[in-house]
Amino acid sequence: MEEKQPIVAHICCAPDALYAVSLLQDSYQVTGYFYNPNIHPVEEYELRLNETRRVAQHLGFKLIEGKYEANRWQQLTARFKDEPEKGRRCQICYAWRLNQTALLARELGISLFTTIMSISPWKNAGVLNRIGRMTGGKFRLEFLETNFKKKDGFRKSVALSKDFGLYRQNYCGCIYSQQAR
Ligand code: SF4
Repeated sequence: MEEKQPIVAHICCAPDALYAVSLLQDSYQVTGYFYNPNIHPVEEYELRLNETRRVAQHLGFKLIEGKYEANRWQQLTARFKDEPEKGRRCQICYAWRLNQTALLARELGISLFTTIMSISPWKNAGVLNRIGRMTGGKFRLEFLETNFKKKDGFRKSVALSKDFGLYRQNYCGCIYSQQAR
């Protein structure tokens, strides 16, 4: 049997991973990377990470856990704290997480990386893919462009994660998105 191409997939949360990583696994050998220093507070971060561990075990992919560099994330985004969701703060947030994912892919000697964040209705896949392409160019890696919202992806991920009994958050992740809800 032909070996699948390795890919590093940035994972934002368990419900999205349950649907999107299983799709990626049809074509790729997935290493997941949970790198989300945006998540506030730390208890919420740990809850989302624990749920992602369950999904990794269930789907059988390797999960690498990034550092919880919350202070670094705050410094990067503080200037845009009053921006609405999908604004400039979010673009910095995507770019930083994709940057760290590309760094990991390079460390592992894997030439392809992506993110599953495009499944969220609150995230613009075009913007994510543009930032991913730029990040790939910077590290001389290939970025896999996705839009997991297609084919009713978000609804399917909600149904799947409900069946699996996964925790599903009701805000994106950072303190600003928590306050906005
Ligand atoms: S709303 Fe979500 S994507 Fe935007 S900055 Fe906050 S955590 Fe990041």
